[in-house]
Amino acid sequence: MARKVLVVEDEAAIRELIALNLRMGGFDVVEAGSAEEASQRLSIGVFDAAILDVMLPGRDGFSLCESIRRQNNSIGIIILSAKGQEQDKIRGLSIGADDYMTKPFSVSELLARVEALCRRVGRSAPEAPEEVSRIQSGCFVLDKKSRILYKNDSPIDLTQVEFQIMELFFQNQGVALVREKILEGVWGKNYFGDVKIVDVNIRRLRMKIEDEPSNPQHILTVWGYGYRWNG
Ligand code: CA
Repeated sequence: MARKVLVVEDEAAIRELIALNLRMGGFDVVEAGSAEEASQRLSIGVFDAAILDVMLPGRDGFSLCESIRRQNNSIGIIILSAKGQEQDKIRGLSIGADDYMTKPFSVSELLARVEALCRRVGRSAPEAPEEVSRIQSGCFVLDKKSRILYKNDSPIDLTQVEFQIMELFFQNQGVALVREKILEGVWGKNYFGDVKIVDVNIRRLRMKIEDEPSNPQHILTVWGYGYRWNG
């Protein structure tokens, strides 16, 4: 089944260029010119990914991103923006976007990122039957089949990217993981982004799984290197 992508962009020329290239890449594309139109489209379809422009008439792309995330943790979100400032990038990632690209952008790079994102968030290939589907670590259980993380038997709401980071931690318990390795393990070898995206996701994960996010007991910082999981 073709991956379904929502393209939200008010400038018709850019939107059509993105849509055309995605269609040529085999994606099923739905276009929206505003956040309001996007919400309507999202309410009646199931999407693998959404590309959100920030500057839109009416509600902006950040606000749209937040409302999508409130309802849907599994969709992949790429924010596409003319604003290249670090602050906007961090803001986009901290409200639940999985990736961020700055205009002007290369269409082929965008396509590569959408493909990578869909693979990550995707209806992944069925697992080999002998693979262990539940991994326990301290009071946490990671269920790979349902893609749910439990803490003391209560499910924790994670995005697909957050889940993948947890998966990497569980497979490397007690091992210090350099940020580049987390980046590569979750976003793929050909990811063009920087390691800050790892830090932003770790910060969000800590908010969700730590009793005291400012004094983490499970996702430990290894200064100047990366992170280590302590179950
Ligand atoms: Ca715009």
